[in-house]
Formats: sequence, structure tokens, C-alpha cells
Amino acid sequence: MASDAKYIELKGQLLQDAEGHFREIQATYATVLKTQCQCGGQLEPVDHDFGKSGGMIYDSVIAKCRACGSTQSFQFPKEGFISEARSAMALRDYLQQAYGVDYAVMALNDLQTRSATRS
Ligand SMILES: [Zn+2]
Repeated sequence: MASDAKYIELKGQLLQDAEGHFREIQATYATVLKTQCQCGGQLEPVDHDFGKSGGMIYDSVIAKCRACGSTQSFQFPKEGFISEARSAMALRDYLQQAYGVDYAVMALNDLQTRSATRS
């Protein structure tokens, strides 16, 4: 599989899109930290909301004010997230067709490796 050009291409695309999505997350967090609450307090990201509502995929950061405790949500730009999801599905479909491999297991291993090296 390591020498399969199609696999390498799809995997490369996924990593590139995942990187783009990661940068969007970083940018959104930076925006949250630069934004002040209505009371003038400092907002900080406390949660990451992600899911599907009424057919729309949403991805947002929940920020809480350190001073008054009120919360706000910041929407992510969706491009990186959608690209990453699309690439992940393309790779999964290909691996299932070509090798009968369940990509979910591999993706989990990848994510664990990624979060281990980044945190
Ligand atoms: Zn406040």
C-alpha cells in the first residue's frame, strides 16, 4: 500500500486539507482572544462545538468571559473543515474498494499520533 500512487495522492491531499483546517482553528482561537466581551472582560475559548443542525454542518468555538461569565460562540470558516471531511471520505472509499481496509481505525491511529506530537 505504501507504494500505491493513488493512496499516496489521497493521503497527501487529506494531510494538506487537515493542515488547512488546523490553521483555521488556530486563527479562530486567535480571534476569540482578541475579542472583548461587552463588559470589557477577556474572552477565552472554553469549548469546541461541532455537529450538524438542520442539514448544515457547524463548527464553532464557545468562548467565556473571565469577568462576567457570559458565553459567546464564534463560527469557524467552513472551507478547511469541509475539504478535510471530503478528503477523508475519498480516502476511506478508496481503501475500502481497493483493499477492503476500514479507514476509521487508521484515522484514529493517525489522530492519536497527531495530537501526541502537537500537544
Ligand atoms: Zn463579560
